Amino acid sequence: MALIVQKFGGTSVKDRNRIFNVARIVANTRNAGNDVVVVVSAQGDTTDDLIAKAAEITSDPSHREMDMLLAAGEEISIALLAMALQEIGVSAVSLTGWQAGFVTDRSYSKARIKRLDTERVESELARNRVVVVAGFQGLNRSDDITTLGRGGSDTSAVALAAALHADRCQIYTDVEGVFTADPRKIPKATKLKEITFDEMLELASLGAQVLNNRSVELAKKYGVELEVLSSINPIPGTIVKEETKVSGLLITGVAKDDNVAVVSIKGVPDVPGMSFKVFSLLAQRNINVDIILQSSGTEGTKDLVFTVPLTDAESTVSVLEDHKSRFGDGEISVDKTCAKVSVVGAGMQSHPGVASTMFEALSGQNINIRMISTSEIKISVIIDKNDADRAVSAIHDAFIQ
Ligand code: ASP
Ligand code: MG
Repeated sequence: MALIVQKFGGTSVKDRNRIFNVARIVANTRNAGNDVVVVVSAQGDTTDDLIAKAAEITSDPSHREMDMLLAAGEEISIALLAMALQEIGVSAVSLTGWQAGFVTDRSYSKARIKRLDTERVESELARNRVVVVAGFQGLNRSDDITTLGRGGSDTSAVALAAALHADRCQIYTDVEGVFTADPRKIPKATKLKEITFDEMLELASLGAQVLNNRSVELAKKYGVELEVLSSINPIPGTIVKEETKVSGLLITGVAKDDNVAVVSIKGVPDVPGMSFKVFSLLAQRNINVDIILQSSGTEGTKDLVFTVPLTDAESTVSVLEDHKSRFGDGEISVDKTCAKVSVVGAGMQSHPGVASTMFEALSGQNINIRMISTSEIKISVIIDKNDADRAVSAIHDAFIQ
């Protein structure tokens, strides 16, 4: 008898019909002789609706009360799913995050799981029940409710699979798996059979919103193989694991990220410590810097150009303006008209020519590249936002037939 963790996202449980659809998937897994632990998200847009309700009361809600509010979404889902399972004759029990033993740190709205005490889940499994656990939530050491950050139910599922040594962890969603590009935009995009954790991490951070980033980090850390699949269409999905067979594909995906701004500082003194002064300011404010370029120094100064999330552009510029005397009083500017397009693939480590193929595709479309950055398994370019969709399509065509 195998133990299977199955996670269902918000769209998979959005209404009565979808809940019974999930109940049938769980029942089939159970009737095939498996123990099943189910993790669910809040129904449909519930979390967004709760955030909007808070905004009707105050523009600055207490973080503690916000987590108390948002945790309610998942509690509705677990109770309804447990009822649906009972209705179709499956013995089931719902558990909140804290009943299921999720102990987190203190940080409301982006809490990290510290410990998972699985006794209650195990004792319910021993009573032959399907255990339906609320994703996204836990309890901190003051016994206050915390949430794990948007999309955190994926992380709850992976943590349970790791702690229970589950045989499988299935992430059911509203897409059929992980694709070589966004299938809504690139009709030729194909579904991947397998993808590595590292590739998935790059793609998740690039805006391929299939799996929450932290859940993939956790899966990699504990070696939990994931299966991403559709709750609507019962066909095989995509397996996410440490190493994949060489699939014949040189790259696994092309992704676009619109949440990018390019910040430039002109005339930074060409002496030691300047980069530290600039980037430590941003680090203190938790602003994530991605690509960094530095011009070679002329006449004792250099220019620093780097990207930050578009959503952090204003705060980046204001903190830099406030402290600019520390790094030469140069001109600070921000460009919000750009996008990042990236190719990802573990195969590029052993195959030369990936960058040149990518640049050829862009040149064929007469698209200008503003910045380039590379890692072992990724090449990213910063280009004009208006060119981004055309770029993804041309690059996808160049690599994937
Ligand atoms: N309900 C939460 C959210 O919408 C958690 C999740 O869906 O994973 O972010
Ligand atoms: Mg959700």
